[in-house]
Amino acid sequence: DRIVSSEAMGNDLTFEQSLRPQTLSQYIGQNKVKDNLSIFIKAARMRKETLDHVLLYGPPGLGKTTLAVVIANEMGVNVRTTSGPAIERPGDLAAILTSLEPGEVLFIDEIHRLPRAIEEVLYPAMEDYCLDIVIGKGPESRSVRLDLPPFTLVGATTRSGAVSAPLRDRFGVLSRLEYYTEDQLTDIVVRTAHILDTEIEIQGAIEIARRSRGTPRIANRLLRRVRDFAQVKGNGIITLAVAEEALELMQVDHLGLDNIDHKLLIGMIEKFRGGPVGIDTIAASIGEEPTTIEDVYEPYLLQIGFLQRTPRGRMVTQLVYEHFQMEAPSK
Ligand code: ADP
Repeated sequence: DRIVSSEAMGNDLTFEQSLRPQTLSQYIGQNKVKDNLSIFIKAARMRKETLDHVLLYGPPGLGKTTLAVVIANEMGVNVRTTSGPAIERPGDLAAILTSLEPGEVLFIDEIHRLPRAIEEVLYPAMEDYCLDIVIGKGPESRSVRLDLPPFTLVGATTRSGAVSAPLRDRFGVLSRLEYYTEDQLTDIVVRTAHILDTEIEIQGAIEIARRSRGTPRIANRLLRRVRDFAQVKGNGIITLAVAEEALELMQVDHLGLDNIDHKLLIGMIEKFRGGPVGIDTIAASIGEEPTTIEDVYEPYLLQIGFLQRTPRGRMVTQLVYEHFQMEAPSK
């Protein structure tokens, strides 16, 4: 498991539970998304209506689940959480939908992984708050409409392109979460340290933020490891020196890149002269699935301008040669 993985791992989830911001004002960053949502939430509350369905997209660890909980809190309702892969049959979804209380938020993580047949159950549910149920088989069968309580669907996906058009069209609000800035991550690190009752100097927080790949989940995880280090090797206070030493030891470089990023980038340079090279070829060369490269490794490398997508495949940029103090080949 990579310490800089943006996917939840180990006991992340239990730990994260205690750190989740509960309101929009506690939710750091994503200002455009928050401003929009706050207007929609206020309007819905004033009209005593259910909030429109919301689709959140963006890489893992940026706060989609957290935002779903915040939305429910701001609406003063409960949230029910499930995920695309957890819903196997149309009946599973029907059972969830019929058990909702009026106005509740249903959060479906990885909504792009819902099988098509199940997606189709969602369409009338989202549009008209009803279920179409087929009773009986063959020529005797007939369809019955069942009313549902009004609800807000909050869907989350790491790939907006993977959500089918008919599903996407049924969301009233589409919000893209962005990678966080260093300042925002510093605020998150300081906030988390406070919750954990850990003393942290601002320079130490900045150093952790800088290496967190724009991702709160990673920032919180690195903070936790640095805190262990500070406790064992120092007096418990996270200073710049402590943060640097701990992060060096974890082999997370000053841009948040780890050995696997290094292997991928240096592999592209040494084996493929920096590209362009197809994603399948890159994947095979480091023994990974192409989708893992696309979903997990690549987004941050694209974000910081280390990789470029071209029609003929991926290319490393000049920044990579500078980062590794290597000479770019003349082409
Ligand atoms: P996602 O659902 O996008 O994978 P999560 O909502 O699970 O991400 O976020 C991971 C963790 O990061 C959360 O538990 C929370 O502690 C922290 N986090 C995410 N977004 C924020 C934010 N805007 N402000 C503070 N903490 C955040």
